[in-house]
Amino acid sequence: MLNKKYLKLKTEIIIYDNKIHILIDLLRFRLKWTFKELKEILFNSHINGAFTDKNDKIIILMYNIKLKCREEDSYLILFHTISTLYHEIRHSYQRVNNPFKWCKGRMAYVSEGDGYIQQWTEKDAYGFGNMMFDRYLNKICDILFEKENVK
Ligand SMILES: [Zn+2]
Repeated sequence: MLNKKYLKLKTEIIIYDNKIHILIDLLRFRLKWTFKELKEILFNSHINGAFTDKNDKIIILMYNIKLKCREEDSYLILFHTISTLYHEIRHSYQRVNNPFKWCKGRMAYVSEGDGYIQQWTEKDAYGFGNMMFDRYLNKICDILFEKENVK
């Protein structure tokens, strides 16, 4: 469900179900986060995921996504996860295919408030995420329901 250009990206995707694993990986991979970034990742429950360019990793914070959905709405959790993945993959793509704009955006990055959504990097990533989610929703449902029928 992604164009060839995306398949060339070397970015690793890690899904975290709890904060302890982030701390373990922090030591294991020597993740290059600043203290401010780490604080955001651990304590800002609005963050569903992030592309950390210095580490070339996409992290998905399942525990924050789960906070936004009721446990019985497991499909909603999966939908949030998939759209977050598309969003973060687009950031990885921006860095490789539009490095100048990416760097410019990184240098003056606004992490909250009105300024956040007005940035080119975010507008583009949300646009891409929504477009891909709409385009493949049928296929995504087929895969999810097929899995359920097999059980
Ligand atoms: Zn983003």
